[in-house]
Amino acid sequence: RAKAQGSGRWDAHRPGSSDPGAERLVLLEQLRAAVRDGELRVHYQPRQHLPSGTLSGVEALVRWQHPTRGLLQPAEFIDAAEESGVIRDLGAWVLTEAVEQAVRWDAAGGLPGLQMAVNLSARQLADPGLVPRVAGTLARAGLRASRLVLEITETALMSDPEAALATLQELRALGVLLAVDDFGTGYSSFTYLKQFPVDELKIDRSFVTGMTTDAGDRAIVASCVHLAHAMGLVAVAEGVETAAERDALRALGCDQAQGYFFSRPVPPSEVPVPGVVVPA
Ligand code: C2E
Ligand code: MG
Ligand code: MG
Ligand code: MG
Repeated sequence: RAKAQGSGRWDAHRPGSSDPGAERLVLLEQLRAAVRDGELRVHYQPRQHLPSGTLSGVEALVRWQHPTRGLLQPAEFIDAAEESGVIRDLGAWVLTEAVEQAVRWDAAGGLPGLQMAVNLSARQLADPGLVPRVAGTLARAGLRASRLVLEITETALMSDPEAALATLQELRALGVLLAVDDFGTGYSSFTYLKQFPVDELKIDRSFVTGMTTDAGDRAIVASCVHLAHAMGLVAVAEGVETAAERDALRALGCDQAQGYFFSRPVPPSEVPVPGVVVPA
């Protein structure tokens, strides 16, 4: 049936298919084609400046508009992309799209200084082409480097900390900002954390979720906020789902927050960028 779509692709999730290895290969082949054929989308999740309650930026999150399976979330394809190396082209596409979207919002009269955050995987971080690609993408689009935040998980940073340090320094030299994503869930090393030239700590959702009911989670979030500030970094909370969590984070002095309470990730036309008039 998938063949009747004319693309020659097979549906990776045929019922009764029993070979996970073969399914994965099909998924990867489809994903390669998806990058090439324009099936990827970027959704944007607003990030709020907590003291003022205003929009401070957005995080770009990739989706795949699959021809038969609908809109797929990263959990369904990002690991396969990472393991196979497809992440290189996928990541380059997301970076370009996100940077161009920031420029489009600017051109439409949007809030000057809105931050655009883009995720980088371990493999992207290890790619020698990364730094020139980031520089080239910013230059071609005409976006100031300090508008871009690159989010890298603690785990990705720690998989080869010496190499990561060198790459972070080069990215920093371009003027982009750097964030440690999912902070608190990896194998943190304070030895490296103090050397990494990062600008933000993004406190993992798992701690934020528990903070209004669990004293341990609350203590962890409080410690992360203090640590960030003591190191001169911006503290950002992920996964805020309730007003109680927002209020508790504000009381702790957390700088910024992101989560379903404020907004889910949405297509660019649905992001309420101040100044941008949404067409009726
Ligand atoms: P992340 O960078 O930690 O992104 C946050 C994830 O948490 C997003 O999931 C977001 O939709 C979700 N989220 C945000 N607020 C809430 C909330 O209040 N409650 C709950 N339950 N979830 C919330 P998403 O979009 O499925 O992305 C998952 C992960 O996939 C991301 O985690 C990131 O590590 C990775 N990813 C997404 N896009 C890209 C990309 O373009 N490149 C790379 N390398 N990785 C990406
Ligand atoms: Mg992220
Ligand atoms: Mg995160
Ligand atoms: Mg997370």
